Amino acid sequence: MHIINFLNILDLLKNANRPRPYNIYQIDQLLKQRKNLIRSIANEDYGLSEDEATLILMYFKWNKEDFDLLWTKDKTDIRIECGIDISEASKIVLSGMNIPDSSKFCLVSYSEEDLFALTCGHHLCKYCWEDYLKLKTEDFLVTLSTTCPQEKCPLVVPERIFFKYLENIQKH
Ligand SMILES: [Zn+2]
Ligand SMILES: [Zn+2]
Repeated sequence: MHIINFLNILDLLKNANRPRPYNIYQIDQLLKQRKNLIRSIANEDYGLSEDEATLILMYFKWNKEDFDLLWTKDKTDIRIECGIDISEASKIVLSGMNIPDSSKFCLVSYSEEDLFALTCGHHLCKYCWEDYLKLKTEDFLVTLSTTCPQEKCPLVVPERIFFKYLENIQKH
């Protein structure tokens, strides 16, 4: 999968008509800025992992001022909005929907190292993750908002998970 999928779409569209060398330079710069922004909030001060920081910055359209303004007041709600945490209401809807040692799609039992779930605990085996994520990359607007494969689970799949599973596919 192409890393450009995860860039700010608007920035790419804005630059779509520019001559090609300039475009490449822009993308490079954007990636660098993007990484710096992620690192500026993925630390102990904010209590955020890189995955969480990325999801939050996407939500704030890469505007750190907007993020800073709201974060101190509204941490809990922002985490839910961004698909990092599950609201109490969703937890009730979802209770009892996870089967700890089986893949939700193929229903095969796997050992722990072959299963993966987001913090919600909705496990898929690596093959089902590959299929699921591959399907989601066909349209990059869908990619950006891909949630946990469990129906009604609001957690958003971090891009790192896409890279992890889709890298594997290329090696098959
Ligand atoms: Zn499976
Ligand atoms: Zn889930």
